[in-house]
Amino acid sequence: MEEHGGRRWPLVVLASSPFHGHMTPTLQLAKALHAHGFSIAIAHSNLNPPNPSNHPSFTFLPLSDNLSTIDDSGSFSNFIQTLNKNCKPSFQEHLTRLIGEQNGGNKSIVVIYDHLMFFAGIVAVDLNLAAIVFRSCSAAYFPAYLVRQQLHQESRFLEQDYVMQEMVPNHHPLRYKDLPFSKSPVEDMQQLVAIMSQSIRPSTVIWNTIKVLEHEALTQIQKHYQVPVFAVGPLHKIAPTNPPTNFLEEDTSCIAWLDKQAPKSVIYISFGSLMRLDKKVLTEMACGIAKSNQRFIWVVRPGSVCDSEWTEFLPEGFIEETRERGLIVKWAPQKEVLAHFAVGGFWSHCGWNSTLESISEGIPMICQPFNIDQMVNARYVSYVWKIGFELEGLESGEMEIMIRRVMVDEEGEEMRVRAIGMKEMVKEAVQNGGCSYDSLEELVGFISSC
Ligand code: UDP
Repeated sequence: MEEHGGRRWPLVVLASSPFHGHMTPTLQLAKALHAHGFSIAIAHSNLNPPNPSNHPSFTFLPLSDNLSTIDDSGSFSNFIQTLNKNCKPSFQEHLTRLIGEQNGGNKSIVVIYDHLMFFAGIVAVDLNLAAIVFRSCSAAYFPAYLVRQQLHQESRFLEQDYVMQEMVPNHHPLRYKDLPFSKSPVEDMQQLVAIMSQSIRPSTVIWNTIKVLEHEALTQIQKHYQVPVFAVGPLHKIAPTNPPTNFLEEDTSCIAWLDKQAPKSVIYISFGSLMRLDKKVLTEMACGIAKSNQRFIWVVRPGSVCDSEWTEFLPEGFIEETRERGLIVKWAPQKEVLAHFAVGGFWSHCGWNSTLESISEGIPMICQPFNIDQMVNARYVSYVWKIGFELEGLESGEMEIMIRRVMVDEEGEEMRVRAIGMKEMVKEAVQNGGCSYDSLEELVGFISSC
């Protein structure tokens, strides 16, 4: 490996998708690689771009996407197709220029791309560069996705099946209802599968997970791809610093509020960066929270509730009734909140970043999954790892009971003990000699040899 201006070759170009839950771990991976001496360039769509001033040591490569919004009311497959089609030409131009600049092409460039940005893999291979795919979902999601795809091909899975409680034969612990994309129309799912099948076979795979946590799924992934798979998660613990993102401004006042609360007395409630929910569900939540009589921090993103700009959906009297024991914020410093001594539970949609962040801090969960990989994650949290309860109904009564089960009841305490055990497992994994630490070292060796 050559040194150049104090940094190593190859240059690592990371192509990130515009989703916040993908951008964050991509930047964390970039930080980790940068700390190992690589030069870093981030290729990103103009939609939801990162803020270069937050990352002065990286180069940024904007891609012309001609997209103005992530339209969650439309078809997800159309969005992904347009994103890939539109970003491809400018990515190709950037790479061609960079190759020209690398001392007449003698020095190598390695492309790591978010799997949703599969055009980047195609361009890299066309230009004879190593292409590494990066997955920011759970490893368990991958076999579940393959099962769902297979059921479609065999026309054995109909949309109305999504409520099915039965176990999928030979795919323990999954029930039909845990399979990905449950609530998307079948046609959109089929189209997405067709679009994703354009992806090339990568030269290696990076996964934001932990080998000891998802060993079985990682083995299946390795068998499927037949290339090295590096489990380097959780990246927010592996990265030397957590790069700020440019999504919403964090309301840090909640930390000062938490400082005044008793240990493990507060439930943190957040459904991530994308979910848009029905007003009725949110009203039930508010009633459940009020009736539980527990302390809480509730993240309500502006615009995340249909027909409500922010908190207009709240039932009358909610604010007055809970003023002494609760906070509603637009966006929280989630990792800091989960690491705070006062937080004793996390009511989550089970996005993978949130799940990893919760596991890393030993916080038991209430799982309320909605789509894509969230059902699989929730199934593992509640049924396999037994560090959370899955909310089955959306009535305030059940929500109230769930909050009390996690925060007050003995079974919540037992879950907390298991969750703290997992926190220790994460700590070990990211330490020198731990599985994720070692995986990152191997990945660094692999990239250096490209
Ligand atoms: N997050 C945050 N503040 C909030 C809510 C969420 O910083 O108020 C972060 C959270 O820490 C996580 C990400 O947003 O890193 C959400 O990612 P996840 O995969 O859980 O869900 P998604 O947003 O992709 O649905």
